[in-house]
Amino acid sequence: MTRPSWTPGERLTGRDPEPDLPPDAPVVGVLALQGDVLEHLRALRRSGARAVEVRTADDLAALDGLVVPGGESTTIGRLLERFELLAPIRARIAAGLPTFGTCAGMILLSDELDQDRPQPLIGGLAVRTRRNAYGRQLDSFDTRIEVAGIDGGPVDVAFIRAPRVEKVLDDDAVEVLAEVDGFPVVVRQGHLLAAAFHPEVTGDDRLHATFVAMVRAARGDA
Ligand code: GLN
Repeated sequence: MTRPSWTPGERLTGRDPEPDLPPDAPVVGVLALQGDVLEHLRALRRSGARAVEVRTADDLAALDGLVVPGGESTTIGRLLERFELLAPIRARIAAGLPTFGTCAGMILLSDELDQDRPQPLIGGLAVRTRRNAYGRQLDSFDTRIEVAGIDGGPVDVAFIRAPRVEKVLDDDAVEVLAEVDGFPVVVRQGHLLAAAFHPEVTGDDRLHATFVAMVRAARGDA
């Protein structure tokens, strides 16, 4: 039997060459406790950011921006508590760190959830979000949606046991950038961006590009 020429995981990560990035590429972290971290790292790199994994409070120090990925919000929330990351992340966000939450990440950034059972949240985004708003795994779907501020036609996205915003809690602060069936699915509140779906699995990187532009703007780039 011949040994394979790869080691487990290497085909996903080890041969994923860093693209040529400009020397001033912003550093964007992806919270790497659970969820689809790799897809975000790749989409960020394709969008001109230096993408790094974030697992500890020390990892936060170097960041110009942060992505909270999709996955399972209850699991990510519990791990945030266990690794004592909730307070440091809240502090960086309160101090203006641009942060992009997708799917479970949007749930975690929400100030309120439409459920009785409490779960740990990062918060900061003045919305009430309903988890699994479109049903179960089998009700997941790919679609194309118009997003305000994104040119070039509708964006390809994947709704995977997706949440949606049931209520905007501060109409002055929160901009709704896209809706599905009359419910917000992309919102922005200053330096916070959140999407109910997965923009990182379709190869349409325009939301990541938008976020990297927000990160550059927050850093004071021209
Ligand atoms: N349903 C998941 C949750 O409630 C989110 C799903 C996802 O991130 N794709 O956390």
